[in-house]
Amino acid sequence: MLGLMQDHPLLISNLIVFAARHHATQQVVSRRVEGDIHRYTYRDAELRSRRLAQALDAMGLAESDRVATLAWNGYRHLELYFGVSGSGRVVHTVNPRLPPEQVVWIVNDAEDRVFCFDMTFLPLVKAIAAKCPTVKHWVALCEADALPADTGIPGLVSYEALIAAHGVDYRWPTFDERLAAALCYTSGTTGNPKGVLYSHRSTLLHAITAALPDGQALSALDSILPVVPMFHVNGWGLPYGAPMAGAKLVLPGPALDGKSVYELVEAEGVTMAAGVPTVWLAMLNHLNANGLRFSTLKRTLIGGSAVPPAMITAFRAHGVSVLQGWGMTETSPLGTGSSFKPKHAGLDEAGKVRVLAMQGRAIFGVDMKVVDAEGDELPWDGKSSGDLLVRGPWVISSYFRRTDEPLLRDGWFPTGDVATIDEDGFMQITDRSKDVIKSGGEWISSIDIENIAMAHPAVAMAACIAVPHPKWDERPLLVVVRKPGVEVTPAELRAFYEGKVAKWQVPDDVVFVDAIPLGATGKMQKSILRERFRDHRLPS
Ligand code: ADP
Repeated sequence: MLGLMQDHPLLISNLIVFAARHHATQQVVSRRVEGDIHRYTYRDAELRSRRLAQALDAMGLAESDRVATLAWNGYRHLELYFGVSGSGRVVHTVNPRLPPEQVVWIVNDAEDRVFCFDMTFLPLVKAIAAKCPTVKHWVALCEADALPADTGIPGLVSYEALIAAHGVDYRWPTFDERLAAALCYTSGTTGNPKGVLYSHRSTLLHAITAALPDGQALSALDSILPVVPMFHVNGWGLPYGAPMAGAKLVLPGPALDGKSVYELVEAEGVTMAAGVPTVWLAMLNHLNANGLRFSTLKRTLIGGSAVPPAMITAFRAHGVSVLQGWGMTETSPLGTGSSFKPKHAGLDEAGKVRVLAMQGRAIFGVDMKVVDAEGDELPWDGKSSGDLLVRGPWVISSYFRRTDEPLLRDGWFPTGDVATIDEDGFMQITDRSKDVIKSGGEWISSIDIENIAMAHPAVAMAACIAVPHPKWDERPLLVVVRKPGVEVTPAELRAFYEGKVAKWQVPDDVVFVDAIPLGATGKMQKSILRERFRDHRLPS
């Protein structure tokens, strides 16, 4: 016997239609590429998304055709999220920080039909346009009069001219909620990037569950700032979650330096902000250097790489709570969050920071386990570390165009992360499997070593990598960027580890660099450091 409730498919258009109707005057604020601030409402966003949907119809796009975006977080990008997916096509967010040849590879693999880009990226688009034969329509996200002549890009039109040619008289179509909605490629640190193809259903289920109070905790009273780019796993779902909650949405455009982000937080009454640790490092430095405080910010969601405890402490000292989230492009992304359980209420501050420094417990819908080399599940004791496997309705089943390549292990997705799970279900990543340091048959967690270094007052950023060693196979080397004007020696840094880790885990050496290379999503690129320091001679 089936239930007798209405059967409405879970579609991405529902989110913007809901916001336009029930939170019509709620604001969407964007810092534009031009530098000024643009402001409108969810009602405006929905009307313009309808115009865009009709423009795509007029281009003759079929269901599931791909529309690429190369854009910062802004209102036009938001309209592409809803106009493209809502009309049954696939919005393909491309990461502009990838090398041009990878962008070309991705566009060809996705067979994008339309390519929309912020004017910032005009030079990149000029360089790649001739190599992207599937693209039939090039669209610059600007006013008609801002479109430069003689770009050499065939048939280039401005977004504003494109949508102005169509009215708002449009009915969002209804279709199977399992239809593809969005496409995002992994950054391809090993081999070519691979496409992760989200459905309407997976996207809505993720948005709803991620918004629960122990997760993103989204409310109509919030002003939400996704500093995480909309090209990085759908801005962690916040461009969907904010209209669902009726929250104000603040989009930072290309200005992601500490000062600009802080000023936007203050000017727009931001209560919740989300981004990778490197972004917050810059903002906290700006605050501390100028003696500033937050007047409205209550919460941060930090993920993408391990959050150093020193950063959690710094935010909490500013009265801002930290939720560490763990996830991947392949998991939409949210899988776990480090929110407290009742038993943590009595912990002192240091104990609380220890809980928050874990990647956290599964959000409903995601299941996880750690397994040994034979694939047998390891106990939840907080000590046994193994490969982390996850499953759930917003976890990948296969990569785009690679459905014939087996990806899952008995229905579980192998994440490539190494982790422990404790008796309360808190997962802690010890490493990416490729970053683990294997010394004399024992594993050293590069994340543990980095977290300790980050607590030293002279350290601005630290990466711990393996260096080949004749006796121990590998030994840890600490690569450090010092804070400006602060002196510290390798010996002092090594002494800082005393009593914090076992002696054999202390890095053998410390090297100072001007900068640590960051990848396309703001994460430290340890593979480049490993290459650079492969022949580093450790002191014997
Ligand atoms: P990429 O870094 O390849 O662009 P993802 O954003 O999908 O792609 O990265 C996912 C990986 O980032 C995870 O497998 C994990 O190694 C790392 N990661 C994400 N969040 C965290 C976290 N909170 N702590 C530690 N590592 C994290």
